[in-house]
Amino acid sequence: DDGSGVGKEESNAPVNIAVVSRCRPLLTREMKRGVRAAVFCDGNEIIVMDERLPTKRSRRFGFDRVFGPRTSQARLYSEAVCPVVRKMLDGFNCSVLAYGQTGSGKTFTMEGGLVDPNIDVKKTAEADPDDVNATACEVEKVGIIPRAVHTIFREGGYGGTRRYWVYVSHMEIYNERLFDLLAPEAATLAKASATNSSAAPSSTSGRSRSPTHRSPRSTPGSSGSRPLQGIGLTIEEDRHLGVMVKGLTQVEVKSPEEIFAIIARSKNNRRTAETMCNVESSRSHGVFCVRVISAEPTPWGGEITRDGRLSLVDLSGSENIKRSGAVGDRAKEAAAIGQSLLALGRVIKALVKHAPHIPYRESKLTRVLGDSLGGNAFTAIILNITPNNGMLEETLNTLTYAKTAQ
Ligand code: ADP
Ligand code: MG
Repeated sequence: DDGSGVGKEESNAPVNIAVVSRCRPLLTREMKRGVRAAVFCDGNEIIVMDERLPTKRSRRFGFDRVFGPRTSQARLYSEAVCPVVRKMLDGFNCSVLAYGQTGSGKTFTMEGGLVDPNIDVKKTAEADPDDVNATACEVEKVGIIPRAVHTIFREGGYGGTRRYWVYVSHMEIYNERLFDLLAPEAATLAKASATNSSAAPSSTSGRSRSPTHRSPRSTPGSSGSRPLQGIGLTIEEDRHLGVMVKGLTQVEVKSPEEIFAIIARSKNNRRTAETMCNVESSRSHGVFCVRVISAEPTPWGGEITRDGRLSLVDLSGSENIKRSGAVGDRAKEAAAIGQSLLALGRVIKALVKHAPHIPYRESKLTRVLGDSLGGNAFTAIILNITPNNGMLEETLNTLTYAKTAQ
């Protein structure tokens, strides 16, 4: 049993998974270098002009939606993501994932101008995407995460009919290990420890005995002592509660501003850890999770409680799938990182095809996302691509990812 709850009778039920593609514009610096566009959008199809062949050949790829280079952040959000956020408020588990090669716009799509505290988020989320005057430049760049946060606080109370509580967590999956970005010392030490342990596997248990590495704080929402520099994070599956990452910090938040302050800190933790350990962020998956629990009174007394989770995922660069040239530990690392993207591709492919078995267990990423993919969950996967004619090969890989992941 894969725990997906998908039985035989239900196998023809619609799968709530939308695969969309977003093509970014050519950047000024690319145009200055003479880069040309080789990817175009036509309705819900992407057209790739493959100039590498002697006779120019074009290929078409169809998706549930295609967002072209002039699509604003506001429009992408309102059409591809906001409906998913509303499902989460209704108590469903949901996920939105950005997939694509490094430089294709994943972080721009998920975060945009996210961490700039001067951005007026209220104005941003309410701005009419077609009203050019209403959207200042920075405001326009704001991505999915801040827009989703704003929707949650604006609509979470259903117009005053219910009480709700919002919790956030932020973790990074790097080389099949989970790191808690909201436990600063944990995130930092975990990476150092992860680096050491590839040379000497026993160092993990050695470190765990050292009291100096224990976090003194206990975090609300997590039970017991929190310890082992984030390496102690393990995944548990509970029949009623679903997938839980044991020991992951969950912070209760009361306003969008509180969330942005938290994200600014966790991003800083991530950068510091990555610099210390010489790790490229393009090789890790960033998983930002918002959970909303609500209680709505019923006319006949009592309350309906709902509990929904939304995972917003900035995936590792898809070029990791077949990065070659690296040797030793680095090569093993790249292979592991690529494997988790391939595992995700197999899960998506199986879901879209109504396959009887969904291979959630093949990677940490698919296990963590397990109950937010398939079953009753709502998922949007955004395939980010670049029109850059020098990057066609990766673009083609991305366009075929969800359909042919082997
Ligand atoms: P990734 O996270 O996939 O590596 P980034 O989000 O960092 O890619 O994007 C690479 C560059 O392209 C950045 O300079 C970013 O600002 C720019 N960019 C990405 N998408 C867009 C877009 N839709 N419009 C304008 N610029 C974009
Ligand atoms: Mg990025």
